[in-house]
Amino acid sequence: MKKVSVVVPMYYEEDIVDVCYKELTKVLKGIKGYDYEIICINDGSQDKTLELLEAIAKKDKKLKVLSFSRNFGHQAAVSAGLKVVTGDAIVIIDADLQDPPSLIPDMLKLWEEGYEVIYGKRKKRDGESRFKLFTAKMFYRILNKLSSVHIPMDTGDFRLVDRKVVDVMNNLPEHNKFLRGLFSFTGFKQKEFLYERHERFAGQTKYTMKKMVKLASDGIIGFSYKPLTFIFVLSMIAFITFIASFVCIFVFLKHYLIPLLICLFSFNTFIILLCLWIVSIYISRIYDEVKNRPSYIVDKTINIGE
Ligand code: UDP
Ligand code: MG
Repeated sequence: MKKVSVVVPMYYEEDIVDVCYKELTKVLKGIKGYDYEIICINDGSQDKTLELLEAIAKKDKKLKVLSFSRNFGHQAAVSAGLKVVTGDAIVIIDADLQDPPSLIPDMLKLWEEGYEVIYGKRKKRDGESRFKLFTAKMFYRILNKLSSVHIPMDTGDFRLVDRKVVDVMNNLPEHNKFLRGLFSFTGFKQKEFLYERHERFAGQTKYTMKKMVKLASDGIIGFSYKPLTFIFVLSMIAFITFIASFVCIFVFLKHYLIPLLICLFSFNTFIILLCLWIVSIYISRIYDEVKNRPSYIVDKTINIGE
């Protein structure tokens, strides 16, 4: 019998654990001819998330739990889930029911037709701030301009993927993973799946500003060298300013020589520091890769490998 695995990252989701488990179980039990498993990853929550998961997992062996030693982030949590799945088709879904579990059977039909990555594309996003909608929209547009692989607009990590794609993903060695980009990078037969993203069932977003900036920079740095080549454009701007200032100083503005020189010097310092900043971002990523520390540390597992 074929098997569907569902990967659910959770961070401070005590209000949602029960309803998420019930909703997923109802949908998965309703899919005829398939076995299933639900893998919840507790990403270092210190509330009752783990306690609640443990209680359910004691009664239902289909619920498997991985618990991290601390918060390692959403992308690390999903990556850890992908390492332990045993299904033929794997679904990645948020715990907060923003991506409706009821869509899984339709995604599975597309998988049966032969598609290997069925990614959810949001046609509507309820209950999210204007700021979040605007920054998300800009991010996807900028990313696509910069990226060497086409990353579909307005997609998150909600998707159904084939076992062989997950095997490829599990063998990618990089640490700061931007999963939606890496799924595009792998290729295979991809299909978009339009859906309406609902409001969070309960609680607040766990994606703080800092986490969003980290995700955005993982996307851009991980998929583009263009910021580095932009340094050439900056150097050209510095050069043109130099010529223009030179002409101004010696032809028109002899009396303002000192102030102009100070301005020119400051502007060039700004450009040099900007270039250094761009380079330092890439160097810090290389440093991360070279250190080769694990992307997450598992503290506890329940019902896994049994
Ligand atoms: N999440 C996680 N670790 C984190 C942040 C979030 O595992 O550090 C989980 C969270 O519990 C949820 C999913 O990732 O299941 C998406 O997070 P959230 O709903 O807060 O993000 P949003 O939908 O607002 O972008
Ligand atoms: Mg959410």
